[in-house]
Amino acid sequence: MALQNGAFERLQEEYSSIRIENERIRDERLKKVYSEHPELKESDQKIMDILTEKALAALKGNDEAAYTDKLAQARAERETLIKAAGVDPAYADRIYTCPYCKDTGFIVKSDGPAEKCKCFRKRESEILLEQSGMAALLKNNNFSVMRTDVFDEETKDHFVKAVEYCRGFIDTFDTDYRNILFCGTVGTGKSFLSCCIASDLIATYHSVVYMSAKTLFDTLAEAQFSKEKLPDVAAVRERIYDCDLLIVDDLGTEMTNSFVGTELFSIITERYNSRRSVIISTNLELAQLRDRYSDRVFSRITGSYDVLRLYGPDLRSVL
Ligand SMILES: [Zn+2]
Repeated sequence: MALQNGAFERLQEEYSSIRIENERIRDERLKKVYSEHPELKESDQKIMDILTEKALAALKGNDEAAYTDKLAQARAERETLIKAAGVDPAYADRIYTCPYCKDTGFIVKSDGPAEKCKCFRKRESEILLEQSGMAALLKNNNFSVMRTDVFDEETKDHFVKAVEYCRGFIDTFDTDYRNILFCGTVGTGKSFLSCCIASDLIATYHSVVYMSAKTLFDTLAEAQFSKEKLPDVAAVRERIYDCDLLIVDDLGTEMTNSFVGTELFSIITERYNSRRSVIISTNLELAQLRDRYSDRVFSRITGSYDVLRLYGPDLRSVL
């Protein structure tokens, strides 16, 4: 699972448009060359005719050898004409934006199933980043900008261990089902590490949805109570439940009411049942989580989430 909400189909349409546009450019180029050099049109037609006759002969089981010389001669004539006309010898070639997959997005292998081309993978990653809502955030929050020199010895060791855990979470994401609860005071790196994980997982074609708790519950309330059922809102709701990784940032900063409690339990439970990971970050202590939400939310989180407590300097002021 990676691309959601028709994104795969949209991507295929993109490829189709690229093929159509390249075909149009080729047609125009061909038309221009033929109008300026009708002898080339004639020569190309002659080669096509020989090729057709050769194919027909093969179909009938007749000897094709007779056509080989004819073809070689016609091709040599064409080459001379091209040189004399001074046109690009590739004027009749098909145009491909990606020569590897010929703008299909897939590489067909003779000994196995078709594989996604690197151009398709690249677009997939871009769409996943766009869908995650994290494009701007991830520029300044990923492992490549991480600094550990801002910690003293004790907190540094602790942070480095947390980083190691996160790297393990990423490396085994497809095989080990895990959830994380980042606890700690403001600025200790909870959101930063969530972003690091998101960044690496998006790069390996996983769908990630990142939302502050406030936005998450506002969106769900809109999907639930809005009179006009907006398709965009419904789609976001679907992504919250279906994405490979859901990140809920700053749980506890939203206005809490019974709707929030019910939705939180529902998200946690449904994603647990479908083995889809969640990362929650919060400034609250575990006991406060229980008081604020419910015993069932508390026991679900303590039972199926790895708790990573972060402490140290306020990274917001030093990173
Ligand atoms: Zn390609």
